[in-house]
Amino acid sequence: MKPKKVVIVGGVAGGASAAARLRRLDEDMEIILFERGEHISYANCGLPYYIGGVIEDREDLLVQTPEGMKQRFNIDIRVNSEVLDIDVEKKQVQVKDRVTGESYFESYDKLILSPGAEPLRPSIPGIEGKNIFTLRNVKDTFDIEDYIISGQCKDAVVVGGGFIGLEMAENLCHRGLKVTIVEMADQIMAPLDYEMAAILHEYLKTKDIKLVLKDGVKAFAKEGEKTLVELQSGKKLETDLVILAIGVRPEITLAKKAGLEIGETRGIKVNKHLQTSNPHIYAVGDAIEIVDFINGSPALIPLAGPANKQGRIAANHICGIEDTYKATQGTSIVKLFDITAAVTGNNEKTLQKFNIPYQCVHVHSPSHATYYPGATEMVIKLLFSPEDGQLLGAQIVGYKGVDKRIDVLATAIRGKMTVYDLQELELAYAPPYSSAKDPVNMAGYVASNTLMGHNPIIQWYHVQELDRENTLILDTRTREEYSMGAIPGSINIPVDELRENLDKIEEYKDKDVVLYCRSGQRSYIATRILMQKGFNKVRNLSGGYLTWSIANK
Ligand code: FAD
Repeated sequence: MKPKKVVIVGGVAGGASAAARLRRLDEDMEIILFERGEHISYANCGLPYYIGGVIEDREDLLVQTPEGMKQRFNIDIRVNSEVLDIDVEKKQVQVKDRVTGESYFESYDKLILSPGAEPLRPSIPGIEGKNIFTLRNVKDTFDIEDYIISGQCKDAVVVGGGFIGLEMAENLCHRGLKVTIVEMADQIMAPLDYEMAAILHEYLKTKDIKLVLKDGVKAFAKEGEKTLVELQSGKKLETDLVILAIGVRPEITLAKKAGLEIGETRGIKVNKHLQTSNPHIYAVGDAIEIVDFINGSPALIPLAGPANKQGRIAANHICGIEDTYKATQGTSIVKLFDITAAVTGNNEKTLQKFNIPYQCVHVHSPSHATYYPGATEMVIKLLFSPEDGQLLGAQIVGYKGVDKRIDVLATAIRGKMTVYDLQELELAYAPPYSSAKDPVNMAGYVASNTLMGHNPIIQWYHVQELDRENTLILDTRTREEYSMGAIPGSINIPVDELRENLDKIEEYKDKDVVLYCRSGQRSYIATRILMQKGFNKVRNLSGGYLTWSIANK
């Protein structure tokens, strides 16, 4: 039997999706949505772009207003209303009206929790300073904006190099501020592997953004009108504005108080229908613990796509549709000025953590046919099972067409496809858009060649472990390219001269030979020559000199 009354906590991604879907499925249901803040259904993901002036009108951030939603969906929307408690026995919530200060009870047949995640604000000395901000909602955005205007800010420190930190860094630059990013890890954008993030490290230099890696904030101190950011290394940065973007944590206070089960990752535990340990209470979005699509383990992956889909699934299930949420694969993308980085599935770090065997390749491809003007290069890193080639993850950094390729790969991962399948994908091609063999096809070819033993590879981080006395490192680029920088200890025989110079490297027939060129393509041809001429231990450097050199900067 369909419930008569559904109460929703949280009125943005998951909550608003659930409300709209419930109404579309049941015209007579009483639906009440409580939102602690002033706004519902706002564009969280657009907030940094308002600060940067890319989105100019405040109203544009409000995807839907309470009045608009009420009119279209006949939903009782109560903003400035914080749900303080859940009485699971009586099936009612206690709500505080944040305007009048009064509190009251509201009963429910089914309850959906979509309270999101709160930005981390660790107890660092001085963190309460009025110019130290986090960014979660519209109010935070306007507060930052107002501070920039009133304080005549000239510089900013962004703490945390995740996607919100990077988007804020870019947008603060658009506002004319000098930006420094401070990141505790040795790389920004944790979902990328190091050598892929290193491309962004180099890129940031070209945008005059300072990057401080492997350092965290020890304390903030007021210094006149400025704030002194003291780092663990002892380094001090003077700034007008600090944005803390060091991650988020699920909002589980309400769920905990109600005695709902909390998972090992500290997200609300839900079943496949998104029901919590109390079957009358559903939970969706950033607040819940999901299953990682690749490794099958519990995880927290706070993204808008999953939150919106989960809201719909919970609503479906409440209305009697046997819908299930399967897992999250973490497909995400970030724009940093004109470069784009995107990921889907697991990276090397995660696969290692879960002891999942993998192989990976790096492929540098033009975004479209090079003879048509405007092509730019992208690097695709593909991770896959060494046994059957099933895709495990992908990362792409480039300037054009990154979004399209990551979405093809995300779809392929969902469909449990292999690298062999990628070769067969028939993707749209005309010179302004792609090549007859799309970069995704190319990645499939390279990975398949590797698995079939035609192109044995070595990763950039294994080069330093080679027994240099007994290894030939052969640079197959042109003499000119070689003279401009090469792997130390390598010798240069351009690929086109290799066949007539085989006698010079004869002694390495049974020894390790590592081949490289700029991207791995010419050295693949060289690999094929040497393997067919009886060299037994040949390996091609994945991603070539480009990947090796950026990772070793
Ligand atoms: P939210 O959308 O955060 O909504 C939760 C709401 O619940 C809040 O408004 C909160 O006030 C309310 N609430 C909490 N507790 C209570 C209570 N007790 N009573 C009443 N109301 C309550 N994701 C992407 O995939 N791509 C992006 O580009 C992207 N960019 C982002 C940029 C920024 C600046 C931010 C902050 C997030 C971004 N995200 C992005 C993440 C994305 O916004 C979230 O994953 C998504 O909004 C989560 O949806 P949710 O419904 O779980 O929580």
